[in-house]
Amino acid sequence: MSARRNYMRLEFASRSENESFARVAVAAFVAQLDPTVEELAEIKTAVSEAVTNAIIHGYPDGEGLVAVTCTLDGDTVEIVVEDRGCGIEDVELARRPMYTSRPDLERSGMGFTIMESFSDRVDVISRPGEGTRVRMVKRLQSSAPTFD
Ligand code: ATP
Ligand code: MG
Repeated sequence: MSARRNYMRLEFASRSENESFARVAVAAFVAQLDPTVEELAEIKTAVSEAVTNAIIHGYPDGEGLVAVTCTLDGDTVEIVVEDRGCGIEDVELARRPMYTSRPDLERSGMGFTIMESFSDRVDVISRPGEGTRVRMVKRLQSSAPTFD
């Protein structure tokens, strides 16, 4: 791993109380890049949406494992949230604003839209019965000092 790169991985049970743990842990790790308050808030929100999805949609009827990895490379943050749960039949449909498969849980179908608006790039790979992998990439504003 080059001097510009740093990496961490977390794995935890798919319990709703672990969502805040994951969000805060990622934020603490990213803090070393000196993000703005707004960037950090955006990253926490995007992680929260992806981890909540893994917990409530990935494992609707039981407990499984959720893994979150975070790679820092220069001023770029890559976050991957993975579960080995039920997977998504139609990823394109799932990503549409206001689409939810769980209106009964009063979900609003905006999670992927929020992840997209707070990241430069969101990739979703999912297979029914195998699980889901969401990769979010965000480049931070350069924190290099300016002298003008
Ligand atoms: P909200 O996030 O606004 O509470 P939501 O979770 O339904 O509502 P999205 O986060 O946009 O909305 O997700 C859309 C749909 O994609 C979900 O309703 C669910 O069907 C599916 N989905 C998302 N993540 C997963 C996952 N990890 N495993 C299985 N299905 C998922
Ligand atoms: Mg959601």
